Amino acid sequence: MESVNLDKISKYLKISDNARFLLEHSEKRAIFTLTVRVSEDRILAAEAYVVYHNTARGPAKGGIRLSSHVTLEETTDLAERMTWKTALVKVPFGGGKTGIVIEPTTMTLFERINLFHEYVHLMQGDLGAGAYVPAPDLGSGPQDMAIIYGETHHLESVTGKPPRVGGLPGRLEATGRGVAHAARIALNTFLGMPVQGATVAIQGFGNVGSWSAKFLADWGAKVVAVSDVTAGIYDSKGLNVDRLKGFHLRHGEIKDAGGERLTNAELLGLEVDCLIPAAVENVITAETAGNVRASIVVEGANGPTTAAADDILAEKGIKVVPDILANAGGVIASYIEWRKAKSGSITGREEVFESIEQLIGSTFEEVSSVAAENRTTHRTAAQICAVGEVISAMHDRGWL
Ligand code: NAD
Repeated sequence: MESVNLDKISKYLKISDNARFLLEHSEKRAIFTLTVRVSEDRILAAEAYVVYHNTARGPAKGGIRLSSHVTLEETTDLAERMTWKTALVKVPFGGGKTGIVIEPTTMTLFERINLFHEYVHLMQGDLGAGAYVPAPDLGSGPQDMAIIYGETHHLESVTGKPPRVGGLPGRLEATGRGVAHAARIALNTFLGMPVQGATVAIQGFGNVGSWSAKFLADWGAKVVAVSDVTAGIYDSKGLNVDRLKGFHLRHGEIKDAGGERLTNAELLGLEVDCLIPAAVENVITAETAGNVRASIVVEGANGPTTAAADDILAEKGIKVVPDILANAGGVIASYIEWRKAKSGSITGREEVFESIEQLIGSTFEEVSSVAAENRTTHRTAAQICAVGEVISAMHDRGWL
């Protein structure tokens, strides 16, 4: 769904015509063609989209998505989500994103290195000035960020680097840690129950899904189902998440890891305390929302619930922790990595987790009180907070 419905938010928050114009228009939408010679007789050409949605609060922050399907519209939507996410948790960044139209799974390392060299050459001005700070997203990873660093020579020009190359211990687990913590708070706030013994189903067993599962299981939750693009598995007594993570590391998928099989649609309809969609966008739709029987939904993925589905969940009394709050652990860790690069300080994994929990916890409280004050959902409340923060920053900058 669109990341923020300004019509809806304007019922709670004064949005002037000028502010609305700026929020509805990205500051910059650039289309590049990355052309790379990868051998004597072969040239790789890929279209790339770079979008800065709003940088009133700081440099544009957002990952680089490599996918044969990524579009300018998707890149714009993701950049906008970064504006709201960074504003909501109050880290000093604006919203940005890069989409590169290429199939990442079949690229050789040589091709990737040359593609990212070319990307840096085209983006040199902004990366060198610190106007845009990229990070990994679907299809890109820490090694690609190390390649970007190698070309810019500034550790703070990119986050999500390997810990050995100026990266942050705990960055890999950061988003999952935040999602798990948001789920822990939501179980307590909405259902008055501890995480111990709570039943959880998680769609997606990649970075976000597998680490959310790991932390929740470590804290005593019963992770009864997980899935990936191939299939899902179920055990009413709780899955052994450590064993599954090991299996996934060896095989790259989980469908043959044992346990009862279930489809992704069945997983979304399980009667559990907490459902965590942590795979792709638009999986809880008007068609599937009626089947959701979880008591709460914690959005690990970006945009997993459509607008129509969101209304259905609200009518059914299912509480949703929105993506811009639940999965903000990644950008919080990115901020710590950026700060560490600027200051030359050393930060440990536990300190990173502590900061994520503290920021997600205090933001959850703020969102809960705005939701109560305005008698609205946590999604709308989070958007009121984020949009208000960006509008205030635009005033501070003299843009309004
Ligand atoms: P990933 O590629 O590591 O994992 C994605 C998982 O989803 C895989 O298990 C894959 O098999 C599964 N999947 C893909 N298509 C599916 C489908 N149609 N049905 C069911 N499962 C499917 O990606 P990730 O980094 O874990 O990101 C997942 C989501 O979280 C994305 O929406 C991403 O934008 C969002 N997110 C990621 C981070 C981060 O730090 N990695 C931060 C914030 C938000």
